[in-house]
Amino acid sequence: GISICGVTKNFGSLSVLEDVSLEIEPGSFVALLGPSGCGKTTLLRIVAGLEHPSDGVIRIGNETVVDTAKRIDVPSNKRRLGMVFQSYALWPHMTVEQNIAYPLRKQGVPRSEWPARVASAIASVGLPALLDRRPSQLSGGQQQRVAIARAIAARPRVLLLDEPLSNLDASLRDQLRRELRMIHDREGITTILVTHDQEEAAMLADLVAVVRDGGIVQVGSPSDILDRPADQQVASFVGYGN
Ligand code: ATP
Repeated sequence: GISICGVTKNFGSLSVLEDVSLEIEPGSFVALLGPSGCGKTTLLRIVAGLEHPSDGVIRIGNETVVDTAKRIDVPSNKRRLGMVFQSYALWPHMTVEQNIAYPLRKQGVPRSEWPARVASAIASVGLPALLDRRPSQLSGGQQQRVAIARAIAARPRVLLLDEPLSNLDASLRDQLRRELRMIHDREGITTILVTHDQEEAAMLADLVAVVRDGGIVQVGSPSDILDRPADQQVASFVGYGN
């Protein structure tokens, strides 16, 4: 699981996260749900090690990856994470196969194991035989599937998803949502999804953390939040009052 304790982030005089804490059970799927600019991406980037908190502690499994008081800050590439972001960020000069194998190489997985790992990751996202293509020869949806395959091939402890489907059209988005949930259920990877879309959070997550103005204002199952919103603002954000 993941434990986020008292995380604060300031950019200069701008306070973006204020004393955020969240416990995430091993193997669960959590959505950080909130409007644009509330700080959810910054929180995910701090878990990823791409951003450093001003204050706070984060544990992944039983490893402390950040502790500002103890000056612990494990580099991103040592945290054993898979990440998928809104823009595909595949390496344009590499084939699909090379893109997916890249994190395996970085992790020191023996080369003899790469083909089986790549094949199984590709099968998970339902991609046909496109291994020799380059990203520019793929559709947006195919590129995002490759990004997901790359993220899971290295068998991360945690999968971090930042609006991974928001550039796709609605039918493809629905399909990939189902696939993300299936991958999560099959692989049992603890997953954090950043989204501003209540429907997406409800469809994918076991637990939703509603983020507003740099803080978590409510944590609960999707139906808890819909049925018992913490306040009027949450209620209107998740659908009532629209
Ligand atoms: P969005 O969905 O639009 O990305 P968000 O909820 O993910 O929104 P963040 O991206 O975390 O929000 O941004 C929260 C606030 O922090 C915003 O006001 C943003 O402008 C500010 N911010 C983020 N990164 C930086 C940075 N590197 N320097 C200064 N301010 C930043």
